[in-house]
Amino acid sequence: MRLNEYLRNTFGCKVYKISLNGGFTCPNRDGTIDTRGCIFCSAGGSGDFAESPTQSVTEQIEAGKARVAAKMKDGKYIAYFQAFTNTYGPVEKLRALYTEAIRHPDIVALSIATRPDCLPEEVLELLEELNRIKPVWVELGLQTIHPATADYIRRGYELEVYDRAVRNLRARHLEVITHVILGLPGETAADMVETVRYVVASGATGIKLQLLHVLRGTDLAKDYEAGKFEVLTEDAYMEILRQCLAVIPPQMVIHRLTGDGPKRILIAPLWSGDKKHVLNRVNRLLEERKEEE
Ligand code: SF4
Repeated sequence: MRLNEYLRNTFGCKVYKISLNGGFTCPNRDGTIDTRGCIFCSAGGSGDFAESPTQSVTEQIEAGKARVAAKMKDGKYIAYFQAFTNTYGPVEKLRALYTEAIRHPDIVALSIATRPDCLPEEVLELLEELNRIKPVWVELGLQTIHPATADYIRRGYELEVYDRAVRNLRARHLEVITHVILGLPGETAADMVETVRYVVASGATGIKLQLLHVLRGTDLAKDYEAGKFEVLTEDAYMEILRQCLAVIPPQMVIHRLTGDGPKRILIAPLWSGDKKHVLNRVNRLLEERKEEE
């Protein structure tokens, strides 16, 4: 099921995600696991579109609303804690940030991006409690199930950690959205489809498929510029997407099928910068899939 359809069915109106920055860091950057971060992660901690962390949550929500005001008459919003690892901090800090967001009258749900190894019991309890007020979605950056790729990208946790996190979240009735990157160096189309199959079987309720973006300032960019790997062509990406879509059941919510890299720091693949064109092709794929169902 496509996200728009799911949002309309669930909330009965147009819903827009506002990217927030809670001023977090990440154990893969602060030295707890590593200091270098995941190999593809930009200086913004994969939250390059998020609002400024110097503003309060309410100010960020209002700034996000103002940005889309022209397109959003009578719509509602999802507070998306996107930058860095959004459950990595003292539970009192998390409670204060999430509660401020969930109390905002125009916010219909929280979406929290994090790592599966940053979900201790007290955080799970907090998320469960908030989920009784408004829906809480947890977005997990898995990217791949293949150990060699996970090492290369410096993900910093084993696959069992992901499995455990999904089980714990689902046991508390929280929605789980798993992020997968398509086009990681060394992976074949079959490897990527295997990852998607795994995610479907894991119990996640939603999936985000993102094209690998090589962003300026990352270690991935150094490897790319040294000719160590090639990025996917547009046709190759569409074909891989088609194969991935074939293994995603209709009830699973598809949150994204494209990349999300900011153009100003995008090195490759440059074809992905033509968002309208890419979206048209992705939409065609989705239509074909619908006809096959
Ligand atoms: S876990 Fe997320 S924020 Fe941390 S380095 Fe990796 S992509 Fe960046």
